[in-house]
Amino acid sequence: MRLLLVEDDELLGDGLKVGLTQAGYRVEWLKDGRLANHALKAEQFDLVVLDIGLPEMSGIEVLNALRQRDNTTPVLLLTAYDAISDRINGLDAGADDYLVKPFDLDELLARLRAIVRRSTGRAVNLIEYNDITIDPSKHQISKAGTDVSLSQSEYQILHYLLSHTGKVATRQKLEELIHGWDSNSESNSLEVFIHHLRKKFDKDLIRTIRGVGYMVDKLS
Ligand code: CA
Repeated sequence: MRLLLVEDDELLGDGLKVGLTQAGYRVEWLKDGRLANHALKAEQFDLVVLDIGLPEMSGIEVLNALRQRDNTTPVLLLTAYDAISDRINGLDAGADDYLVKPFDLDELLARLRAIVRRSTGRAVNLIEYNDITIDPSKHQISKAGTDVSLSQSEYQILHYLLSHTGKVATRQKLEELIHGWDSNSESNSLEVFIHHLRKKFDKDLIRTIRGVGYMVDKLS
């Protein structure tokens, strides 16, 4: 899942980026509100962790602007103080949850899983497709009950395709997922990852939509 982290505190932001990446999120980290606002207009994220106290534009203003565009991406706010007015403003502006600093990384991860679960309307957050099961909370994929070991990028691609069956995932979307913004990976690596996934699962699982991207058929 692609996560936008907006935090101006270098130390905290750095720690969060590492922790969230280890938990399996594809993290983009920005350090001011205006840049975050631009990114949220231009790009699609699955999840946003947004500090309230930011330079240029506050987290509440970024959130207000996001919701005014009818964008329902789940947002978790971080508040520096135990300020009740901040929390009320944040929830009124359409935040899905908030955490008061300092907080525990495990609690943040649990709350992110919960808001993703709520936003996708799934009671449990397992994704199942024939004999393939993805457990995003553990970052685990199994085939017929046996765990399959995948690279980070392979996991991101398969997770995305199986969450959007019946829809074509464009090359651009998948490349964003696997490279983020600041990667220098070779342009052919998407094909390589798809090749590996077909070998590990089923050669017919992922269809190539020539000139557009890839797709996994909806189960009938
Ligand atoms: Ca701050």
